Amino acid sequence: MSQIFSNLQRFRLLLKSCISERDLSKGKALQTLYVKSFIPPSTYISNHFIILYSKCGLLSEAHKMFDEITQPNVFSYNTILSAYAKESQTHIARQIFDQIPQPDLVSYNTLISAYSSCGNIESALNMFSKMRELNADMDGFTLSAMIAACSNVTDHIKQIHSLIVYSGFDSYVSVNNALITNYSNNGFLSDAERVFNVMGEIKDEVSWNSMIVAYGQHKEGYKALKLFQEMVHEGWNVDMFTWASVLTAFTSLEDLRGGLQFHAQLIKHGLERNSHVGSGLIDLYSKCGGVLDAEKVFQEVLEPDLVLWNTMISGYSQNVKFSEESLECFRKMQWIGLYPDDCSFVCVISACSNLSSPSQGKQMHSLAIKSEFPKNRISVNNALVAMYSKCGNLDDGSKLFERMAERNSVSFNSMIAGYAQHGLGIKALVLFHQMLESENAPTSITFISVLSACVHTGKVEEGWNYFKLMDEKFGIKPVAEHYSCMIDLLGRAGKLDEAQRLVETMPFDPGSIGWAALLGACRTHGNVELGVKVADQLLKLEPSNAAAYVMLANMYASAGRWDEVAMVRKLMRDRGVRKKPGCSWIEVKKEIHIFFAGDSSHPRTKEIYEFLEEMSRKMKVAGYLPDVRWALVRDDAKEGEKEMRLGHHSEKLAIGFGLISTPDGLPLLVVKNLRICGDCHNAIKFISAIVGREITVRDAHRFHCFKEGRCSCGDYW
Ligand code: ZN
Ligand code: ZN
Repeated sequence: MSQIFSNLQRFRLLLKSCISERDLSKGKALQTLYVKSFIPPSTYISNHFIILYSKCGLLSEAHKMFDEITQPNVFSYNTILSAYAKESQTHIARQIFDQIPQPDLVSYNTLISAYSSCGNIESALNMFSKMRELNADMDGFTLSAMIAACSNVTDHIKQIHSLIVYSGFDSYVSVNNALITNYSNNGFLSDAERVFNVMGEIKDEVSWNSMIVAYGQHKEGYKALKLFQEMVHEGWNVDMFTWASVLTAFTSLEDLRGGLQFHAQLIKHGLERNSHVGSGLIDLYSKCGGVLDAEKVFQEVLEPDLVLWNTMISGYSQNVKFSEESLECFRKMQWIGLYPDDCSFVCVISACSNLSSPSQGKQMHSLAIKSEFPKNRISVNNALVAMYSKCGNLDDGSKLFERMAERNSVSFNSMIAGYAQHGLGIKALVLFHQMLESENAPTSITFISVLSACVHTGKVEEGWNYFKLMDEKFGIKPVAEHYSCMIDLLGRAGKLDEAQRLVETMPFDPGSIGWAALLGACRTHGNVELGVKVADQLLKLEPSNAAAYVMLANMYASAGRWDEVAMVRKLMRDRGVRKKPGCSWIEVKKEIHIFFAGDSSHPRTKEIYEFLEEMSRKMKVAGYLPDVRWALVRDDAKEGEKEMRLGHHSEKLAIGFGLISTPDGLPLLVVKNLRICGDCHNAIKFISAIVGREITVRDAHRFHCFKEGRCSCGDYW
């Protein structure tokens, strides 16, 4: 008897260690023992197998185990319920919930949290009212989940808030902490502040941390730092989470210097090697452009966890130049035996988008399918949709979008933006109307894509309607980007006066985005007088914006006002403004090749230049005239030199390489970090016709798909 007992005891311990280590193979071995009845069947043990399988993401195994339990208790139900809840499979979770003879508080909380985290507010509210009708007990968790459910719906949060006060839950610290976070996430900093201030003595460390994070989120870095000092002064226990929240304050201010000083303090406290604090530091450095510093922090951390790896992968991928490192970091993480989660995939897939590497992107897609977490993770699918369309592969993007079992607003946003950027304005608008018919509310980002779709299709009236609809129907206040689309739309339709009026009557300062849009419109219509005034405004805001000087110089040049062109160039020289070096890249045989203007570092440089020279002869025969205004070299430079410089722009080099190293007829995709230059745009039209290939160039603004001598942008960009 005692032998059996101690075996059972050992078995339980082994099973628990499998769970904590997520050791699937050992777990399966244990299950074989269990099934072969070496261990007496018990609901307790079966429940733990469910936990193991659900932790390892094997839902069907977990469910099989559950079905085999002869006498499931409420814990069995709650375990399988929570397994489905965690994977956002709310409809199955609901079916299980309905089978529970007597659901307890945990059952309710699990289902409400599941509804809440996938944004299904209505079901969460229904469940919540059911609880209240049945007079079922609720606790801080229930209310915190309800508060979380109400993100994006201010009315509901305020309703829940009054209910909390009414039912006396306002003395629960956890509930108030959730309120602070939620008000802040939804842009209501003052409401969050109010909750924090009335909390008085019940405050705990989490409350302080949440409020510091809230200030950080709202770019109130100084208030965050002041609150932190107060917290220290009052003698509160400062933990890793506090240090990390202070780091978010510096990150929000993009205050690298302050961050460095704080880093020194962390070193003094011996905290910089902590994984949680390390993540904050990596985030700070990579957002402030210091990826190499982030890397150093990463290497110093003693026990790197999944969050730390993800932050590093994401840090690399936010800095386009380090996209390769992002992929490398993702691979290393797997080598050391960590399983990537949805967050890792989202970051690494976005690195593939930055690189415009369809082959790597596809590889990540199949890896995500093969990996142990469920295939229908919305966030991963959304990232994939965005990746496919950014890599110029709109077909795969829309196929995946159609196949997605569940979609949210972000899914629609990615797809609509994809269509809009590829110049498929009508498709973008059709999908937008489908979105309105679905349960997914449009966001501020949706309207940026919708308005730019109007720009590409020249739909002025529709544009105005959508612009008004935003605020009137959805309460979304237009920001600079929306105005910029409208200015662009009006400018292209030749309604320069209306565009100017819009800029003058904007409820806030047009800022550089607004002025730049108007300047673009002036250039398109050759209105030099207005253009000069607008450029003046823009340069006051951004004296080192090279693009503005170039646009102004081009405008003078097209009007033949060469003295002014020289003046603008002198101004640029005097102010030390330099054009950001343009670079273009192309993926050939799964390898990325990067080119700068006039670059001669590529191993096949000689062939590329010879090919381009030959091409240039053919183009001239076909009627191409190099537009030397885009050469932007010294005025006294010889015409020949100007022309040669144009011929060696980075996008031309990348295309030249692409053409000599891929089979005839294959389409090419080239990415450029800046706007494509006017001469290259014209030249590529000729090239596409001469070689009979489709050449797509993704520049900093949009896609240009060149085919048979034409571009999909209709020469507007
Ligand atoms: Zn060019
Ligand atoms: Zn184009």
